[in-house]
Amino acid sequence: MPELPEVETVRRGANQVTLNREITGGDVLLDRTIAYPFSVADFLNGISGKAIAQWHRRGKYLLAELVKGSREQGAIPSCKSQVASRKSQLIPNSEFRIPNSEFLGVHLRMTGQLLWLPQDEPLHKHTRVRLFLAENWELRFVDQRTFGQMWWVPPERAVESVVTGLATLGPDPFSSDFSVEYFATKLRDRRRPIKNALLDQSIVAGIGNIYADEALFRAGVQPQTLCADLRSPQISRLRTAILEVLEASINAGGTTFSNFLNVQGVNGNYGGVAWVYNRSGKPCRICNTPILKLRLAGRSAHFCPQCQK
Ligand SMILES: [Zn+2]
Repeated sequence: MPELPEVETVRRGANQVTLNREITGGDVLLDRTIAYPFSVADFLNGISGKAIAQWHRRGKYLLAELVKGSREQGAIPSCKSQVASRKSQLIPNSEFRIPNSEFLGVHLRMTGQLLWLPQDEPLHKHTRVRLFLAENWELRFVDQRTFGQMWWVPPERAVESVVTGLATLGPDPFSSDFSVEYFATKLRDRRRPIKNALLDQSIVAGIGNIYADEALFRAGVQPQTLCADLRSPQISRLRTAILEVLEASINAGGTTFSNFLNVQGVNGNYGGVAWVYNRSGKPCRICNTPILKLRLAGRSAHFCPQCQK
């Protein structure tokens, strides 16, 4: 499943190839991929004639900021977007506040892939949506499991009122809102395993199974530890570890072991260097103790019983 680093890789890839190209139209092959508007025709009418000024990310949601297309206004990105663009080269989407704008929203869910292809490229059988851009290129959404979603957010609507999952989403890990103090407050007195809390998108956005396991290893905390039993230094170490594993993966371009391709169809390579994820029975890379696996919240958790106390 694409996690935050993969989605961030898609965002960066999309920013490299799609900006300032007008969306000339599209073809929706699976209607229910379009979550809003309820009419596919309204969706295509909404985005057509617009150009993509900038791709943003909140958790695992991608938001393409739309401006009037080149035929009308020269498709000049807004000032806000240019500031966001400069910042995004340093740190992933750190302080993004959703501007008052019009958007194309995309969530990849389990198996969604956003590919950048010439329009004459033969269709993959799981192709769900094709968005045609100028010069005969297209953004092609391929999604085997069909949980992926797209939205058009009209300019007069608040983005959270259309992409409703954003309303309950916790802070992005790279935002200053995800402070040690915030994290400690969210974990205080909670009698549930820390692994479950890390997967809770209302506490922090975008962390899935892989990076939760990896961050807990780096912080030296066992996944079944109850939140209420964590001491302040552990919470601080865990927050740092989350940022480190996400950054390492973003720098490596995502993972190889998920069903993920970035926008240009290239696999990432974080998988080869995982400390614990999917390594049960294999020797810990630090102490050689076999990695253990247990079930928490219906998901597998991997950890080293020696390095994580
Ligand atoms: Zn170990």
